[in-house]
Amino acid sequence: MNVLVINCGSSSLKYQLLDMTTEKVMAKGLAERIGIDGSVLTHEAAGKDKVKFEQAMETHKDALNILMDALVSPAHGVIKSLEEISAVGHRTVHGAETFCDSVVINADVIEKMEECSELAPLHNPANLIGIRACQELLPNVPMVGVFDTAFHQTLPAEAFMYPLPYELYEEHKIRKYGFHGTSHKFVSRAAAELMGEKIENLKLISCHLGNGASLCAIKGGKSVETSMGLTPLAGLEMGTRCGDIDPAIIPFLVNKGYSVKEVDEIMNKKSGVLGVSGVSSDFRDVEGAADEGNKRAQLALDIFHYRVVTTIGAYVAAMDGVDGIIFTAGLGENSVTSRKAICDRLNFLGIKLDVTANSQRGKAMIISAADSKTKVMVIPTNEELMIARDTMELVK
Ligand code: AMP
Repeated sequence: MNVLVINCGSSSLKYQLLDMTTEKVMAKGLAERIGIDGSVLTHEAAGKDKVKFEQAMETHKDALNILMDALVSPAHGVIKSLEEISAVGHRTVHGAETFCDSVVINADVIEKMEECSELAPLHNPANLIGIRACQELLPNVPMVGVFDTAFHQTLPAEAFMYPLPYELYEEHKIRKYGFHGTSHKFVSRAAAELMGEKIENLKLISCHLGNGASLCAIKGGKSVETSMGLTPLAGLEMGTRCGDIDPAIIPFLVNKGYSVKEVDEIMNKKSGVLGVSGVSSDFRDVEGAADEGNKRAQLALDIFHYRVVTTIGAYVAAMDGVDGIIFTAGLGENSVTSRKAICDRLNFLGIKLDVTANSQRGKAMIISAADSKTKVMVIPTNEELMIARDTMELVK
């Protein structure tokens, strides 16, 4: 059974075709600049050379047409006909309180997804465009929606409610939703396997540390607390996002003459490690600058590590203990120094790193020493595989 996984952004489309008997990637690619001059689709099939299609793509449907031609083409393809695609899994950002799990897409689901768009105006409409275009091109293939928020629908009310007037929750659905759910779910399952334990018996903290970053407390396999909120701006310091700040800073700046749009832009695009360091939003550049003695770059990293550590402390309290801490995503999987800086501040959990294991990359492994009281792991995340697994499960 082959599952096509689609992840649509406003001007991009990422895809992977997976053979679910082996869970191997048969082909993958990325279409960029859809609807903009200079659109290009990069396609890579297993065992074949990477190829670039520099063709005009007015819409996501144009991109899908090019990728489907590539999938069946004798030169770059991996299947003989589109009939070999058994199902399509769509990454969908916001499922609000409507979607607690992945779901087979039908007209009713699409209508409900449209209702959720208000909460993710940049993401959900693009996801829906991708779903509709796929339905036109593959009308008889079942499709599944996998939501970034769904994994966090198990949060208790004390964790998801903001102490605002209750009517704002009732009228405008203002509450914590959390994101990166597909990633937190995937790595927590993989961690339980690595630890040789049943997930039902474990208390885990998953640290998804990339350009966007969030932590998740997972008790018995269920998300019970997470750091992002109504939107992905909340929580940790990120590449360009500020994370949690005193909300009074917003009216303070507006009173100083900034427009609400400008404040929004500052918080989302000009803050985080970029804003503090003045160097870059890319952690590699900031780590490099800090190594060369740049004090603001070091401060940006210190804030980041401090917030991860204090959030871990809060989650240990929330779960009354922790058995394992997981590092994942770009920085979590690759930055030996950040993992060390964070773990060095977790003495209260009896954590001891295995320096040799921590210096390796690219595979799921335990990086804590044998006598560490809490296990520390690196698990490369694989949201596409999680989406494909959910898709297969639902259409089987
Ligand atoms: P993601 O959003 O998961 O793709 O992660 C992207 C972030 O991971 C970027 O800020 C990268 O700088 C960071 N990253 C990737 N590789 C490394 C590395 N070897 N050391 C430090 N940061 C890295």
